This record gives sequence, structure tokens and C-alpha cells, in this order.
Amino acid sequence: MNFKQESPISIAGAGPAGLTAAIVLAKHGCKARVYEISPDVGHRMNGDFQGLENWSSDKDITSLLKNDIGIDINFLCAPYYGGDICAPGMGPLEIKSKKPIFYLVKRGAMGGSLDKGLKEQALSLGVEIIFNSRLNFAEGGTIIGTGPKRADFIAVGITFDTGMKDLATVVFNDEIAPKGYAYLLVNKGYGTMATVIYKDYKNEKKYFENMLNFFKNNKNLDIKNDKKFGGCGNFFLKDTNVEQKTIYVGESAGFQDCLWGFGMKYAIVSGYLAAMSIIKNSDYDLLWKKELKPMLETSLVNRYLFEKFGHTGYRYLAKGFAKGDPCDFLKYHYNQTFFKNLILPIAKSRYKSQIKDKN
Ligand SMILES: Cc1cc2nc3c(=O)[nH]c(=O)nc-3n(C[C@H](O)[C@H](O)[C@H](O)COP(=O)(O)OP(=O)(O)OC[C@H]3O[C@@H](n4cnc5c(N)ncnc54)[C@H](O)[C@@H]3O)c2cc1C
Repeated sequence: MNFKQESPISIAGAGPAGLTAAIVLAKHGCKARVYEISPDVGHRMNGDFQGLENWSSDKDITSLLKNDIGIDINFLCAPYYGGDICAPGMGPLEIKSKKPIFYLVKRGAMGGSLDKGLKEQALSLGVEIIFNSRLNFAEGGTIIGTGPKRADFIAVGITFDTGMKDLATVVFNDEIAPKGYAYLLVNKGYGTMATVIYKDYKNEKKYFENMLNFFKNNKNLDIKNDKKFGGCGNFFLKDTNVEQKTIYVGESAGFQDCLWGFGMKYAIVSGYLAAMSIIKNSDYDLLWKKELKPMLETSLVNRYLFEKFGHTGYRYLAKGFAKGDPCDFLKYHYNQTFFKNLILPIAKSRYKSQIKDKN
């Protein structure tokens, strides 16, 4: 690709993917202009906690952000080394890891969120962000990071103030989260709980109630000032993410963990790769295929198996998490094997995005 550097690189979407691309471009002396349809960053989220996964590679995600990509940690980024996990017919099993399993971050337009942190970094580097605006015409190169187009899963939850201690709990159970999972996260007096469902969206209220009852019965819930939040995630595999001078990043490129929706790392890494492909005039497709495709494909196979084995599979997973180090267990399952490569064509033919994102 050969972009004209004198005109700014136009970026649609000020999510983690688009803002990372803008930050990296600006750090390398390229002008970047971001068009964001909402009045501020993080409008798709509502102050919920999300997990920046730290299991799919040996390198710590914070080191990847700071040292490889060049992103400062100017947002809440709290390491979680363990928690507990529940599956049908099994009490909570404690899980504990040597390294952080994930880093808890906040999403939304408020101070301390990942979104606000990235915005501040971009602005301080001279990136222009135009809010309430969508990209119509771009003179130079274009990066599209506009998030999900359709819903392959939906999440329904609440955020709340609480007197509970810091914790992380995951529940696998089709009565609470069909083919997905529910989670409860608490950090310093603030909490998030949600059910992430991959089937039967029309009964989202029932699953939310089931989740609430489950946590009421199993945790000493203390919920004050609760606020609803929700959203969707979209995953798909494409052969190319470059169309003429347009590069797709993050969820708008289908980059999403097909198993459980841990899309932030994909968004940030793909934003970085897109920027580097412009800076170095190299092939973006080659870059993401090397860095992201193997894990994307494995996560698709994992989703196929997760759905196929249902409650039996959930119990196997819960035991696997609790038996050894959960990071090692997850890393093994997020990496390609001969068996998973064999199943990939079946998994690929099985998944088609389900509904349009009405949001
Ligand atoms: C409830 C929920 C919980 C989640 N939990 C986790 C988690 O725990 N861990 C994890 O890793 N991931 C999680 N994810 C997924 C993660 O949030 C996304 O994968 C990630 O935000 C994708 O980043 P992105 O930059 O590609 O897109 P987005 O974050 O969606 O950003 C896209 C931006 O583009 C803007 N936009 C859209 N259309 C246009 C347009 N036409 N013009 C201009 N701007 C436009 C949007 O307003 C938005 O600001 C969760 C998602 C949801 C919904």
C-alpha cells in the first residue's frame, strides 16, 4: 500500500482499534484524523468492567501495550490472579494463577476508562478527533474501526456500587447463559455482572433474572445504585481486510475471540498492525494473518466444541481451570493443534452471524 502522507490518515471509529491506530501513527509522525459517530469515546459501553486477557501469549499484555505498541497505562488496569468458577452440578471451584489471568479495565466515557485513557493519549499526540461525525470521504488512506456490524452474542448486565470485596466469578450454565457464561467482577467498591448469551436472545430478561438469582444464592450480593448495560459482539473470518485503500481493524474486521468475546486485545493489536502497515508500507493482510489468524481460527473451533459438548464440556473446563494453572490451561486451548485444524472447516461452515446490531 502506498498512502499519500501529506493528507491525514482518516480513521472511522474511536474505539480501542481506531484510537490505537491513531496513537501509533501519530507517534511515527503521521497525521491522523478520527471520525466518531458518538459525542464522546466509549458510548457503546456504560462503565462496565471488562477483562483484558493475559493468557493467549507468554508476554504480559501490559508489557505488549507499553513496550511493543507504545500505549501508556493511564487507565484502570488491575491484575486478577484468580477467582472462582461454577458449572452445573459443581460448587464454586477456586482458581489461582502465577501470573494475572486478566487485567480488569473499565469501559465507557468516564475518567479512568480504557476509552478515556486512549483518547487522552491520542489528543496529546496531536490526533484530531471529530465527534458526532462519520467518515464520508477520505483523501488519504482510511482505517475502519467501527465495531460490530451484527450480533453473534449479546451481553446483558448491570454495574453497581458495593461493599463487597474484590472478586471475579465465572458461571457456565445454559439456564443462565445459553452457550455462553455469566460473570461477576468487583473492584474497589464497584461491580459488574452480566450474562453473555449466544442463543435464544429473545429470552434475555429470563437469563438476566436467572443470573441475578444465582449470584444472590451463591454470593453475599450487595448492590447499590445499579445501572443497566448491554451490547453485542461480532466475529467472522475473511480472506482480506484491505479493500483498495481501506483497512479494517477490530471487530469491524471480525477480529473477536469467537469463544468468549475477549475482543479488546484483537482490537488493539489490529489497530497497531494497521498503523505499522501504513508506516512501513507493508501488507496489512500478511501482518494480521501472521499475528491474529491462528488464534482466531482456534477460537472458532473452541466455540464449536464448547457449544457441542454443553454442560459436560462446561464441567470439564471448570475442572481444568481449577486443577492446574488456569493461564497454562487456557493458553493450551487457545493454540492450534492438529485436531483443531482438522475440525476448522466444520466450524467455519457452522457459523454465520445471527442478527443485525439494532443498537
Ligand atoms: C458488554 C460487553 C462486554 C465485553 N467484555 C469484554 C471483555 O471482558 N474482554 C474483552 O477483551 N472484550 C470484551 N468485549 C468486546 C470488546 O469490548 C470489543 O471487542 C472491543 O471494544 C472492540 O473494539 P473496536 O475498536 O473494534 O470497536 P468498538 O469498541 O465498538 O469501537 C467502535 C467505535 O466506532 C464508532 N462507530 C461506529 N460506527 C461508526 C461510523 N459509521 N462512523 C464513525 N464512528 C463509528 C462507535 O461509536 C465506537 O466508538 C465486550 C463487549 C461487550 C459489548
